[in-house]
Amino acid sequence: MNIVVLTGAGISAESGIRTFRDSGGLWENERIEDVATPEAFSANPNRVYDFYNTRRQQLFDPQLQPNKAHVALAEFARLSSVNMTLVTQNVDNLHERGGSDNVVHMHGELLSAKCVKSHETVRWNGDLTALNTCQCCQLAQPMRPDIVWFGEMPLYMERIYQAIETASLFCAIGTSGSVYPAAGFVDIARQCDVETTLINLDETDNGHFDNRYLGKASECVPRWIESVKAKYELD
Ligand code: NAD
Repeated sequence: MNIVVLTGAGISAESGIRTFRDSGGLWENERIEDVATPEAFSANPNRVYDFYNTRRQQLFDPQLQPNKAHVALAEFARLSSVNMTLVTQNVDNLHERGGSDNVVHMHGELLSAKCVKSHETVRWNGDLTALNTCQCCQLAQPMRPDIVWFGEMPLYMERIYQAIETASLFCAIGTSGSVYPAAGFVDIARQCDVETTLINLDETDNGHFDNRYLGKASECVPRWIESVKAKYELD
């Protein structure tokens, strides 16, 4: 069975990474436009580097661990009858640490840096500064966080649309439905007669799902998986 799962900041909240919306419009005490736009990077690159360096360092905090929702999705994807495309808006690495492979990071990744000229990417675990230059260009260029900022095009869109169009189930987990184009995936799924499920702490703005599980991802994701396994006799 082809299943598309879309995750957002809410799935990582119980692991200790703050969401976007729950911080009252501020993300880690910063305004989005000051740290997550190409204009912010041009105007004050050091502030943007610092913001993402702090986010990246958090991933190496031993207390930060994947939670039951990350792990349950990874186990579900390993069933031979399941072909899961796991799309995340998150830039953390908790799905991978929970056991998932081939995660589609549509908004980029903290553990990656990108050449500003060629857009070639390289794995990056430490701090990134204006002094770090690429090795892909003849004249070395500065690197930037490999994050899709507001106003930029998300990654892997064609692959994601294809996966939704050929899916039987679409499930959105821990996302407020306020950031497009991800917030519009449910409408595409419905147009393609794909069964849709929302798992979220509260009602979101992006209304139209066939099924809803309102509560914590760590409790609701395993429950949703058990119900899908029973309903479609998956093993
Ligand atoms: P969002 O903050 O707009 O929405 C998060 C949603 O998760 C909210 O509706 C909230 O009610 C819900 N939620 C909170 N705790 C939950 C829990 N325990 N279980 C289930 N649901 C819970 O996040 P978004 O929709 O992903 O959009 C925000 C943007 O900010 C994304 O583009 C993302 O790239 C970025 N971001 C990423 C991270 C991360 O990588 N972990 C964290 C914050 C923001």
